[in-house]
Amino acid sequence: MIQSNQRYDTLAAAKGWTPGTNGDFKNSQIAEIFGKNTLTLESLRERLPKVVWKELKNTIEDGKQLNSSVADAVALAMKEWASEKGATHYTHWFQPLTGATAEKHDSFITPNQGGGAVAEFSGKELIQGEPDASSFPNGGVRQTFEARGYTAWDPTSPVFLIENQNGKYLCIPTAFASWTGEALDHKTPLLRSVEALDTQAKRALKLFGKESNRVVSTVGCEQEYFLIDQEFYYRRPDFVSSNRTLVGAKPPRGQELDDHYFGSIPDRVLSFMLEAERELYKLGIPVKTRHNEVAPGQYEIAPIFENCNIAADHQQLMMITLKRVARNYGLECVLHEKPFDGLNGSGKHLNWSMSTKDGDNLLEPGESPHENMQFLFFFSAVIRGVYKHQDLLRASIAHAGNDHRLGANEAPPAIISAFIGEQLEDIIQQLLNGGLKESKQSGLMGLGTPVLPSLPRDAGDRNRTSPFAFTGNKFEFRAVGSSQSISFPITVLNTIVAEAIDELCTKLEGSVENEGLEESLGKVLRDSFKETKSVIFNGDGYSDDWQVEAKKRGLLNLKTTADALPTLTDKKNIDLFEKYSVLSEREVHSRQEIFAEQYVTTLNIEVDTTEAIARTMVYPAAIRYLNELSTAVKDAKELGINPKGAESMLVTVNNALNQLSEALTGLTEAQEGLGTGTILETGMEYKETLIPAMNKVRDAVDLLERFTADDYWPLPIYREMLFVK
Ligand code: ADP
Ligand code: MG
Repeated sequence: MIQSNQRYDTLAAAKGWTPGTNGDFKNSQIAEIFGKNTLTLESLRERLPKVVWKELKNTIEDGKQLNSSVADAVALAMKEWASEKGATHYTHWFQPLTGATAEKHDSFITPNQGGGAVAEFSGKELIQGEPDASSFPNGGVRQTFEARGYTAWDPTSPVFLIENQNGKYLCIPTAFASWTGEALDHKTPLLRSVEALDTQAKRALKLFGKESNRVVSTVGCEQEYFLIDQEFYYRRPDFVSSNRTLVGAKPPRGQELDDHYFGSIPDRVLSFMLEAERELYKLGIPVKTRHNEVAPGQYEIAPIFENCNIAADHQQLMMITLKRVARNYGLECVLHEKPFDGLNGSGKHLNWSMSTKDGDNLLEPGESPHENMQFLFFFSAVIRGVYKHQDLLRASIAHAGNDHRLGANEAPPAIISAFIGEQLEDIIQQLLNGGLKESKQSGLMGLGTPVLPSLPRDAGDRNRTSPFAFTGNKFEFRAVGSSQSISFPITVLNTIVAEAIDELCTKLEGSVENEGLEESLGKVLRDSFKETKSVIFNGDGYSDDWQVEAKKRGLLNLKTTADALPTLTDKKNIDLFEKYSVLSEREVHSRQEIFAEQYVTTLNIEVDTTEAIARTMVYPAAIRYLNELSTAVKDAKELGINPKGAESMLVTVNNALNQLSEALTGLTEAQEGLGTGTILETGMEYKETLIPAMNKVRDAVDLLERFTADDYWPLPIYREMLFVK
């Protein structure tokens, strides 16, 4: 009997994909569409009476509290704008601790007593909503009797429209909190951390003789992702339920040829990118770069940096848009950190700096950094924050998906250290030796031909192996996972740097009057670097030597999520968050609980899916093939011909099947008696017993994939998913 193989049908369908027409690209320029679906401050100003605008502007730019009487006028302007664009509904758009975004739509139309309807959207509805959102994780903050959560408008992030061919709705970025005032989301603490950083940075600037009315952190993220034909994606239960392949043998050709990286972009993918970028432009998201990444089927997109709160909202919108638009091209956009075993995973470099309202980058070293005392001050504050709170930075990126990536020789190790480059290292050394004389000139990098200009060599040169690297005028937090919300990592960065600035300022303020700025700064920075310099590492973060060296230096090495999450509630961390009013003790505990719960739940789903694939797809396929082989052996013997070939295959497949059977028994046994302790304890048990047991099942399945007849194999294989574009 010829096997009907659905996999081959899938391949034909994927290959047969043809591009549709997705909009009139030629006749609309980027300048025309940029910001079309977002109510920019400029157009809001035009729609508001002058006094209202002035008050709103104070809120947006300087963080002043919003006068509630202003809200009605703003709501009206927003509704008019949205309605003119064809929107019928609005939603408070928020970021619950699931890491995704949430929305509940309400129509602008409200029925009136006469049986008709009026379009209504008041200031009250703009400012506050009450979604019945009791099912979002709250980590014990909300009891059922106080289950209501409310959303509150964040006027510092612009509203926007989401559209599809059938309609549009207005999205209002909001914070999400319980009635008792506890943050149930990622935005609230982020906004609080912005305040903390602002307060401390302004205090520092004053010491340098500068007045600024606002300092914010700036963020730009490089997002990596995979694109896979949907025909394959939906035939893989593991992709559908876990967003990654839980089984699958490494293909003969992976990324070894390095021919995909920065290669020319396949046509279908380019079409997708062009449309995704247009959608992002419409939302006012300044996308700038796109390219192929290291693994086949992997790509990257990056916008220009923005104020961190807006950048965090835009990052969420970017992920949503990539996924949405990919479907128009028969593709699935996979944001998981490790979709394919043995190939590079995806991260999200979080570029971070601090800037005054006027756009002065506080981490810009200038021509001669040793003279730039202000730069050295803020730079040392970041190093100090990273040194003191390696655990928090690690915990802020801890989730099941990212554990596959960190330390896998394609992404930074789980040890948090900072790369700062040769020039800055030299400056710090001079400082520690007693005084600053010169900054090692990086010199000009001639290109060997008089026709081309000399380029200034980047003082902070490249090191891809560091989790936290200074790259010229910003730090790049490279350990962030591709699928995660960037809000919590930013919150942690803002807060730990705020604390470091606070500490350095306190010391400076104590001595600056007697000693003068230069003298006392020299001392304060010297002391700080002495204390914190062990976190600076310019070498190869992938090497085994570094693991040993880091241990000697006393740096933390929290290898997995299960190791990292417990540190969240260490006293030092609760004190930090409370001191700067970023998170209360209860809020820290609730986050820990939720993140641990997500870790355990993710693993539960992975285990169940692995088991189901093994038992209901792989097992039957292997048995069928075994049957065929045993018939072949019998037949050969009956015919009196040599059965050796079929026999040896029969033994091989049979052995692999036995291995699978044992691994499945092992997995069942591993699950017994788990989960009786706290959620953190359960997480640790999962890491120690369940994950290894699951990996054994995978090994057996992958072995079978190599020996089972191809036309029996029920799952799209790596080669197909990665190379059919
Ligand atoms: P590279 O990583 O190669 O240096 P870019 O200079 O293009 O690449 O920057 C990568 C990302 O860093 C972009 O999103 C960019 O907007 C962002 N970025 C640049 N400067 C800053 C800054 N001062 N603050 C935050 N992000 C920044
Ligand atoms: Mg970069």
